Amino acid sequence: MANRLNLVKRLSSLISAKTTDMLEKIVIANRGEIALRVLRACREMGIKTVAVHSTADNNLKHVLLADETVCIGPPQSIDSYLNMPAIISAAEVTDAIGIHPGYGFLSENADFAERVESSGFTFIGPKADAIRLMGDKVSAIAAMKKAGVPCVPGSDGPLGEDPDENMRIAREIGYPIIIKASGGGGGRGMRVVHAEASLVAAITVTKAEARAAFNNDVVYMEKFLEQPRHVEFQILADTHGNAVHLGERDCSMQRRHQKVIEEAPAPGITEEQRNRIGERCVQACKDIGYRSAGTFEFLYENDEFYFIEMNTRLQVEHPVTEMITGIDIVREQLRIASGEKLNVTQDDIKIQGHAIECRVNAEDPKNFMPSPGLVTLWHPPGGPGIRVESHIYSGYKVPPYYDSMIGKLIAHGETREAAFARMKNALSEVVIEGIKTNVPLHQEIFQHAAFQAGGTDIHYLEKRLGLT
Ligand code: ADP
Repeated sequence: MANRLNLVKRLSSLISAKTTDMLEKIVIANRGEIALRVLRACREMGIKTVAVHSTADNNLKHVLLADETVCIGPPQSIDSYLNMPAIISAAEVTDAIGIHPGYGFLSENADFAERVESSGFTFIGPKADAIRLMGDKVSAIAAMKKAGVPCVPGSDGPLGEDPDENMRIAREIGYPIIIKASGGGGGRGMRVVHAEASLVAAITVTKAEARAAFNNDVVYMEKFLEQPRHVEFQILADTHGNAVHLGERDCSMQRRHQKVIEEAPAPGITEEQRNRIGERCVQACKDIGYRSAGTFEFLYENDEFYFIEMNTRLQVEHPVTEMITGIDIVREQLRIASGEKLNVTQDDIKIQGHAIECRVNAEDPKNFMPSPGLVTLWHPPGGPGIRVESHIYSGYKVPPYYDSMIGKLIAHGETREAAFARMKNALSEVVIEGIKTNVPLHQEIFQHAAFQAGGTDIHYLEKRLGLT
């Protein structure tokens, strides 16, 4: 009976191209802390869960807690967490209604979103065409400009073959400039050019690299900002034309383009700036018919915002926004995917206090080498305003095959200082034995006067660590 009901629901969702009932059961197509985060939201909402996992992940916490589990392949991600047919088959055999992709893996793969929906399941994220539009940086920037989102001064579209014309564009923008691949991602496919003499060669090389890496040799040019901060806006949009922004986060503390610490709100950003930029992001979502959660990433320099890209998925750092707005972003994703309306308006959203997040990685804090292995003891921190998002437990073995992040510590306080004080406590309390972690690095960063003052740029951490 239940199976037949599910089938009817799936067929009707195929016909109407959207589900209007609450999702009864979903597949969590991810692993680690985010899979556990999604599972917890589902359990609160009475949604049944299917954990799909690799053979290396039988003992993941969310796999142990899920209503059903399906092994989808061997440890290597390409054979398991990136294996689209295996994940969709798991949804078929378990009669799930939707698939939540988490972050990373297939979360920003438009082909996956399309295949999920054409197989009759709900993709708990945006529509494939929105992912595709935003996945191509040239088309994303064009859509942003149309909505009045401020962008980096640049070539206004792809670079052509004419070297004189490209030199003219670069001169007009002013050196240094950066050549970027339209299909690039993960910090790859970019080249900074400081002087005209190296421009033409740089374009040729970046094009060739982009063709090889992304099968797309479209490149464009932007002003290279030398000391920017990374400030990003969280948005939520439903399928009824409603969209809101949840303010911004500062994620400037980075190493090799990987965020290490995030906080919300961003130090020094005024309410006027928040409202103005947030409103433009909301407009962009409405223009492109965006649904679900999304993030607009900006570089911020000399009091100006410059859009660089949109992430069409849940972010690692979503909890800091949740802590200052009281909105459960994963719950909202699930509600939106069920066809429900946002239950908040922009006026309802109030920013309360300050939140900060430290990403805890299984790695050597000095040389950053991954440190997988058996966690012999795990004692999480606690107390008022402390939130721990982690899948590890005493006796859990961190496998060597995946990203080294094993959890996140989040501290919330009435002020930035209060949040910092709580985080310092949390970092001194947490016990993780058996593997090396970057907790000592976090402890060190929290002693830095510049970080305490707020507003450090994206190069700060690497410079302080002597890595540049
Ligand atoms: P990806 O999709 O690869 O993450 P982004 O466009 O988000 O590419 O850029 C990644 C990083 O490259 C940014 O966080 C920033 O550090 C740097 N970057 C990109 N564009 C610029 C720019 N115009 N000026 C300075 N730095 C930039």
